[in-house]
Amino acid sequence: MREFNAVVLGAGGVGKSALTCRFVKDVFVETYDPTIEEEYSRELVVDGVWSRLEVLDTAGAEQFTAFNEVYIKSGMGFILVFSLTQEATLREVDNLRRQIYRVKGANARVPMVVVGTKSDLTTEREVSKSIIERLAAAWNLPFYETSAKKNWHINDVFEDLVRQMRDR
Ligand code: GDP
Ligand code: MG
Repeated sequence: MREFNAVVLGAGGVGKSALTCRFVKDVFVETYDPTIEEEYSRELVVDGVWSRLEVLDTAGAEQFTAFNEVYIKSGMGFILVFSLTQEATLREVDNLRRQIYRVKGANARVPMVVVGTKSDLTTEREVSKSIIERLAAAWNLPFYETSAKKNWHINDVFEDLVRQMRDR
């Protein structure tokens, strides 16, 4: 079985841990210590083929920290997370995306997925679908709207990333 690793990055409170826990343990964690950083592992089938995926749920890795660089060097694939209810968190995705290309090389083909979380909170939504679709197209990255609470499109994110890592 092939093994891959993914790093979950994004601003604090956007739902990185909720996304990761939903994928790995199929539970929704309402409150999760924002300082906990943890690596999880799960096997999954993508297009009929089993893989093992290690997922690093990072904590407090905002701005251009030295930490980020360590994560980026060790990561094969990246899940860049923002909250659909907090437009400002999109900026961190763009920062991280640029930082990843700086570390991996501007022309490197780096497996990445952009994730907008909390899609169940429709009345609190700040980021329209057209805005993020336009950005994702400009970045040439796949984009998913998810809800860890409702378990919407969580697996799609990880399957997309495994396909990218497998096909590299
Ligand atoms: P992190 O700091 O990025 O790891 O964020 P957390 O995963 O700890 O989530 C921050 C807060 O947002 C917590 O109170 C979560 O319960 C909440 N949250 C995360 N994902 C969702 C979601 O899909 N829907 C809703 N309604 N709340 C969410
Ligand atoms: Mg967390």
